Amino acid sequence: MSDARNSIRLSIVIPVFNEAENLPQLVARLTPVLAQEGDEWEILFIDDGSADESLAEIRRLNAIEPRVRALSLSRNFGKEVAIAAGLDAAQGDAVIIMDADLQHPPELIPEFTRRWREGHAVVYAQRGGRDYEGPVKRVFTRLFYRIFAQLGETQLYEEAGDFQLFDRKAVEALRLLGERARFSKGLYSWIGFKSIGVPFEVGERLHGKSRYNYRKLLHFAWDGITSFTTVPLRVWTYLGFLISIGALITALYFVLEALLVGVKTPGFPTLIVAVTLLAGVQLMSLGMIGEYIGRIFAEVKRRPLYIIAERVGVEAAPPRSGAAPTVAPSHAAEAARLLRSD
Ligand code: UDP
Ligand code: MG
Repeated sequence: MSDARNSIRLSIVIPVFNEAENLPQLVARLTPVLAQEGDEWEILFIDDGSADESLAEIRRLNAIEPRVRALSLSRNFGKEVAIAAGLDAAQGDAVIIMDADLQHPPELIPEFTRRWREGHAVVYAQRGGRDYEGPVKRVFTRLFYRIFAQLGETQLYEEAGDFQLFDRKAVEALRLLGERARFSKGLYSWIGFKSIGVPFEVGERLHGKSRYNYRKLLHFAWDGITSFTTVPLRVWTYLGFLISIGALITALYFVLEALLVGVKTPGFPTLIVAVTLLAGVQLMSLGMIGEYIGRIFAEVKRRPLYIIAERVGVEAAPPRSGAAPTVAPSHAAEAARLLRSD
């Protein structure tokens, strides 16, 4: 799988948001594992606008081990975008994405590369128990996957986290997907390719707390559902149809009643109920349409996904010739042509 143009075989992409105290131990555990894979590797940190000493720590590590590199984004863009930046800059024939907090054991990497050499383009770590998370979060997670499985047009690997290996061709496919509301897990499944899971136990976070609160998670789940399905948009059409039929039947009833029995009441309650019900449905459906229009608006603005403020040991040139940037002017058409999917 080696490529003459490029000597780096394995890139480890790690999004970093205020993880200064985790970085030394992370690198200390990664390097011996990577040494088993030969010399041609890089650890590429994406500093996602950290406010702590993360970047200084990375610089220190880079001085000791030049294969530790970093891009520093100009502000906090979120983990998903940080990963996209990492995929753009990574040079390896295979790219492994992992968290900085050592919840993803580096010792699993040899198993990843073994599966990769067997010919799997995507190798994902399959979570064991989710016991490190509270029961509430667990219930919500399960609920989310249940809903997504019902609505989504893309199938998710439920127990797959963000600890994954991608072959170069899968990386290039992911780089073609330049959408703003990035639901990585959906994107990972969407690209297809031969993939396999490797079971593992998620560890405890080494230092600090999870960077995700419930608000962020809820937002993330909502992004996931709305970017991978149009069911929320369609459901109002069905509901509207049913309500219209109901209204017709009721109207028929009132007409017959008026003809046979005569008008009993002025019909004021019926009127109010009908008006408010319909207004409610219309408002809901308008809101739903607004949601998608908002997305279209965000996409057509074609803002870059991220802004790089600084580079540590990473050159500015695009890593590979012929690779499309994340925001190609015609990425949608190009994706369709190159992936010939659907
Ligand atoms: N992260 C990031 N940007 C953010 C939030 C998180 O780059 O806005 C990184 C974080 O530094 C870590 C990874 O994403 O390396 C996973 O974050 P965390 O451990 O907080 O998430 P959890 O494990 O709770 O899902
Ligand atoms: Mg974590």
